[in-house]
Amino acid sequence: MAATASIPRPARYLLRFDDLCPTVSRERWRQCRALVDEFRIRPILAVVPGNLDCDLKVSPADARFWQELRAMEKTGATIGLHGYRHLRQSRGRSFVPLQAFSEFAGVPGHWQRTWIAEGLEILRKEGLNPRIWVAPHHGFDGNTLRALKAESIHLLSDGFARVPFVRGGLIWIPQQLWGPLEKSEGLWTICIHPNITGPAQIEALRLFLRDHASQFTSVDSVMAEFPLGALTLAERVHAHMALGRILMARIKKRFTVR
Ligand SMILES: [Zn+2]
Repeated sequence: MAATASIPRPARYLLRFDDLCPTVSRERWRQCRALVDEFRIRPILAVVPGNLDCDLKVSPADARFWQELRAMEKTGATIGLHGYRHLRQSRGRSFVPLQAFSEFAGVPGHWQRTWIAEGLEILRKEGLNPRIWVAPHHGFDGNTLRALKAESIHLLSDGFARVPFVRGGLIWIPQQLWGPLEKSEGLWTICIHPNITGPAQIEALRLFLRDHASQFTSVDSVMAEFPLGALTLAERVHAHMALGRILMARIKKRFTVR
């Protein structure tokens, strides 16, 4: 078996932008792109190919959207397939069970394969090269992994370990944060949803990027630098406990915030 990556020290960071589609909040996406340019970040851009989710229809469809993504991919961004229509109609159990409903987990394999194939085709027709799976609502199961492999997608962004690893025949690059947070060690993906990121959060991200720009990496660099193997037992336990802490925090919030 291949060696497991050792936990990097100091920490490394990846930046991921979710819910991108032509109707993303134009102003907030512009502010996010300005940060990418200013600090020369090579982010993961998680794109919804055939969006039907009303929550993601924030601005009128922008004709420049696809051209901007093509330009960002040319300068080092990695294009992610963020599901198909971004609906949540299934209740299947996910590998990363953060949400009760999802678009993919629990859906029959042939449907998942069709949606993934069609989603990839839409993005490729726009001149993009999708290379990494980003499950909407963290919902994906064994059938998703089989469909992705059949469609030659071998990377996904999810999970709570501190290093990339191989599971189910795919390479998992963990995603554990939803905002900037200083860490002493490990590889951390910070997921930003431009539609719901206000001025204070943009400014916090800007300050974090200013202080830590040299620690930000890209999917390509991660693939080149980290040895890939199954997680050690210790890291599996760590990931399991991290997931447990997030679930507990959400339950607590549900009972305290009204
Ligand atoms: Zn999403």
